[in-house]
Amino acid sequence: MNTDRPKIVLLYQSLLGIYGDHGNAVVLTKRLQWRGIDAELVTVEPGQKVPTDGAIYLLGGGEDTAQITAVRELKADGGLFTALDDGAMLFAVCAGYQICGKSFTIGARDEVIAGLGLLDAETRRGPERAVGEVLHIWTQPDGNTCSITGFENHGGWTELGSDAKPLAAVEVGWGNGNRRDEGAVQDRVIGTYPHGPVLARNPQLADHVLEIALGHHLEPLDLPEITALRQRRIDAARTGRP
Ligand code: GLN
Repeated sequence: MNTDRPKIVLLYQSLLGIYGDHGNAVVLTKRLQWRGIDAELVTVEPGQKVPTDGAIYLLGGGEDTAQITAVRELKADGGLFTALDDGAMLFAVCAGYQICGKSFTIGARDEVIAGLGLLDAETRRGPERAVGEVLHIWTQPDGNTCSITGFENHGGWTELGSDAKPLAAVEVGWGNGNRRDEGAVQDRVIGTYPHGPVLARNPQLADHVLEIALGHHLEPLDLPEITALRQRRIDAARTGRP
């Protein structure tokens, strides 16, 4: 991995691109560029080789059947696994998060599909679809808590095994489906349900991802308009009034 010119690799938008989560890749790239770091955003589609020299890889949300194709293609390519072995990090949202687990089910048939096995997590169709604004409580590495705002829309509910830790605790919404824990963290893989895109709504989480990838602290960026918008969304999730 080249940390002078970090590569942000956005995977398979044609499969896992319907929820606008590509914005997470744009946010990460911009936040580095705003700090004078010459980051490069690379998009990779199925059939193209996944580069192994990326700093951060991103997967987004999508439909059930697209998830099966994404798993098959990523396994056949192998580049993502090589990159993670070499120290890259992966940030995956919703369908992208589900496929990182050991297995997930698809649609009404409840067919069990093997996942990428990067997270000790299994996803099964829940009794209800989890839809709506969310608010989660994320405990940052320094021990301080920070709200995560976003929007969830998923039929799969995810249960974590002992090797994966939740990313956050649920304040508003379903999270992993149990209304208690949300997302998963294991090694350098983070999975989470919120769209938004979540890294645009939550700059602290974006910088956390960047700090893990770069291996050093980043000074916060002062963007008052983002802070104000973020507060409005936190208030809206708490009151249920958009
Ligand atoms: N298809 C998955 C589900 O419904 C993921 C949906 C999504 O990515 N928003 O659980």
